[in-house]
Amino acid sequence: MDINDMIDEQTYKALSNVVEGEERTDGIHVSDLKSNCLRKSYYHKVKESQYDLDGMLKMAFGKLVHKFELAPNSEHEKSFEEWNGIHGTPDDVWNGVVIDKKTTRNVPNKVRVHDRRQLEMYSAILDDYGYDIIGCAVIYIDMGRNPKIDVKSFPLDNVDFDDIREEMLDKKSTLEMHLEIGEPPERNVGWICNYCNFTKFCFFDDVEEDDK
Ligand code: SF4
Repeated sequence: MDINDMIDEQTYKALSNVVEGEERTDGIHVSDLKSNCLRKSYYHKVKESQYDLDGMLKMAFGKLVHKFELAPNSEHEKSFEEWNGIHGTPDDVWNGVVIDKKTTRNVPNKVRVHDRRQLEMYSAILDDYGYDIIGCAVIYIDMGRNPKIDVKSFPLDNVDFDDIREEMLDKKSTLEMHLEIGEPPERNVGWICNYCNFTKFCFFDDVEEDDK
């Protein structure tokens, strides 16, 4: 084997260990429910993501940069007790604020819709467990040529936690049903497709089946 290929292969394995060392528990997670496209969540569970070496490096960076603890008294990587069969681990809960860290190469002007939904879902669960949650924040970590941090936060004044809990339970049942029958949910095509790792499965799986 060519030396370059040999080192490439070993580097890939080493980075996979960084990523897989953080392997999350089985079952449905808040992050599976944050998107409006449950089909994406379905593929995430049933297909292996085909990352190349660069993609694996990005994943490993993402994992490592999440590691810092916000404050000594923050509940860092708070893994709450399974809520109605849903798992979740906010990066930090500190002074009543639920915080998630997101790596990106393009910091948005405001909290992205699905990032916001994910934090609202964590908050709704923590609220049900008796936490007094006053707001949420995303620490966007720009991994571009000039790394920087940009914090975006929002209050929860007008958020109805009951609605959010109901949405989570509905989405969980739908996703579980599709996983059980082995058929992906309907597509929900939108801008999110541009960032989806499963486009080729989503749009070409049916074609492949028909061609068999
Ligand atoms: S490509 Fe779009 S519609 Fe298909 S799974 Fe991804 S986000 Fe959903």
